[in-house]
Amino acid sequence: MIPQIDLGRQHAGLRDELLAAAARVIDSCRFVLGPEGQALERELAALCGARHGVGTGSGTDALLLALKAVGVGPGDEVVTSAFSFVASATTVVMAGATPVFVDVDPVTCNLDPSLVERAITPRTRAIVPVHLYGQPARMDALCELARARRVAVVADAAQAVGASYAGRPLAEWGDVSILSFYPTKNLGGCGDGGMVLTTRDDVAERVRLLRDHGAPRRYTHVELGGCSRLDELQAALLRVKLGRLAGWNERRRAIAARYSTALAGLPLGLPAEQPPAQHVYHQYAVRSAKREALAAALAARGVGTAIHYPATIPAQPVFSHPNADREFPAATQAAAEVLCLPCFPELTDAEVGLVVDAVKHAVAEVM
Ligand SMILES: *Cc1c(COP(=O)(O)O)cnc(C)c1O
Repeated sequence: MIPQIDLGRQHAGLRDELLAAAARVIDSCRFVLGPEGQALERELAALCGARHGVGTGSGTDALLLALKAVGVGPGDEVVTSAFSFVASATTVVMAGATPVFVDVDPVTCNLDPSLVERAITPRTRAIVPVHLYGQPARMDALCELARARRVAVVADAAQAVGASYAGRPLAEWGDVSILSFYPTKNLGGCGDGGMVLTTRDDVAERVRLLRDHGAPRRYTHVELGGCSRLDELQAALLRVKLGRLAGWNERRRAIAARYSTALAGLPLGLPAEQPPAQHVYHQYAVRSAKREALAAALAARGVGTAIHYPATIPAQPVFSHPNADREFPAATQAAAEVLCLPCFPELTDAEVGLVVDAVKHAVAEVM
């Protein structure tokens, strides 16, 4: 059986280092807002081209606090993608604003800048580009649009840590980018965690307040904040993995390149890197109108797959957007067709070959 993802393999190679890092934190008795978190914030900010990193309790919280920090609140609209993980839109509502869904590019499944432009109104406060599957959205066009219309860019980079656009690391684009350390992400913790990355001093300062009870000093509470900090254990474990991230992302790209070469010519939609975006293949998502049959045929051949995501966000019961299918045709079609193949750094070359053979046979069976 070739699993769609296998964290056990990643941890087997790092076990001693992870345990040593955990022991260091346990022995220190500093568990919240200490040196490990500060070091991780510095290291990730440097890697991603930001001036500041602010750790949070999850990627969802990072997005919520980033939206609040750029001033999103009641009465505002935020333009976001119709095809992403639900948090790309629920956080807008939690910030008190209204999500305005926009359809995606049918090939990359990322925000289509021309549709974003049409969705901007005088109430728009921010745009949330999502770097879906690890491929950066069209940040040049989106940032230019945002500048012209005086709205903020808060990028959901949960799936794209380490990626770049036009040779520049992602956090150099827009006002804020957020990361998630959910265990299956390209840089995943052993639990929940997230980070806000920004070049803006004011935004970093505001997120630091919002994540820690609105307190610039202990027992002085200047605004309504919550409790969403990245704990020291997670930070220490993440720092072990951060040293491997560049190599892991290279390996993901190599696996994707092999799939794309070997599967070209089949009646399947293949993911395409669209320069100047540099893709870090959090997922390798193929497209097929016979997705369910293909997944079943692959499972019968011992290849695990996953569907990210089976429905558009506006079609989710929580939003129940009327006519979601007609209004967001590209997102709706993607939700019906995407199938993610195994794509994680520890996959062996032999396994990549087996997946390729299995896909060829499965496609022949179901088409
Ligand atoms: C994982 C993810 C999130 C949420 O991150 P959590 O850490 O699970 O809260 C948000 N947006 C996208 C696109 C994601 O993939």
